Amino acid sequence: MNELKWFFPGSGSEALDLFKNDYRPHAGGTYLIKTPLNIRGLFDLSRIRKYREIKAEKSAVSIGAAVSYTETARFCEKMLPQNILSSALSKAAATPLRNRITIGGSAAALPIWSDLASPLAAAGADIFFEGSEDIISAVDYFNNRDIRKNNLVSSVRIPTGYLNGAYYRCTLTGFDYPFFTIAVSIRGKNMYNCAFSGCRGFLKIFSGSRDVIITEAEKKLEFSDRREFSGDYLKHRAATALKRLLSTGGSIDE
Ligand SMILES: Cc1cc2nc3c(=O)[nH]c(=O)nc-3n(C[C@H](O)[C@H](O)[C@H](O)COP(=O)(O)OP(=O)(O)OC[C@H]3O[C@@H](n4cnc5c(N)ncnc54)[C@H](O)[C@@H]3O)c2cc1C
Repeated sequence: MNELKWFFPGSGSEALDLFKNDYRPHAGGTYLIKTPLNIRGLFDLSRIRKYREIKAEKSAVSIGAAVSYTETARFCEKMLPQNILSSALSKAAATPLRNRITIGGSAAALPIWSDLASPLAAAGADIFFEGSEDIISAVDYFNNRDIRKNNLVSSVRIPTGYLNGAYYRCTLTGFDYPFFTIAVSIRGKNMYNCAFSGCRGFLKIFSGSRDVIITEAEKKLEFSDRREFSGDYLKHRAATALKRLLSTGGSIDE
């Protein structure tokens, strides 16, 4: 068995060289620890200062790839109480895990139980890559496995105004992987951008008024059967939660 090599780059460009040489990024390590490591080695992102930064910009929040769920939830909560990102990330997994899971690692791993995907998609976040001028929307990034595999995420930027809204995660118990999540971003009077994750196709977005979104979601949302619940039951749960979210505009969790 080959010995796993570890690197600790101090800058984005050093990290990019390692990435191009087929070494894999290690962020929180919470996904890597559960996957077979048929790799040459890992480089840790925690010493790259700009990857550890989170800052408020003029009308957006910029979050470095190695910032944790806990740090993000706290920072955004101070900026905008009860925003959809803080609601989502403060309920994901458990405290010790939230202290480790990072924004970049979570976006790249994209598990079906992600609490990150729907708020980023609903709020219209953009993803930035090391060594590239390209800015990719979170939705395009999540929908394209090749982009995810071939790029080192350096940061995520989210328009602050679009973080207003409501978030729901469907679980059996508080500490559980969500079957699906819904993030509703308020865009105007009776105008919303609504993202579902965990459904068939992983991510679905619906925009418009309350009635348009409910009609579209009922027509187009599908769920696969799970061990605990049938796809039809999950669809019913999602439709019910959506109606409640759109009527209250507040966060609902069970
Ligand atoms: C028991 C348990 C329960 C969990 N529950 C939830 C939950 O309810 N909700 C939720 O949202 N998450 C949950 N998670 C976290 C989720 O499953 C992933 O483990 C997590 O999102 C990965 O983030 P990380 O920072 O630990 O990434 P890592 O494990 O370090 O990396 C994940 C992958 O992304 C790559 N990578 C890392 N950083 C970058 C980067 N900057 N650019 C490109 N690629 C990169 C790595 O090489 C690796 O392939 C849970 C995890 C565990 C162990």
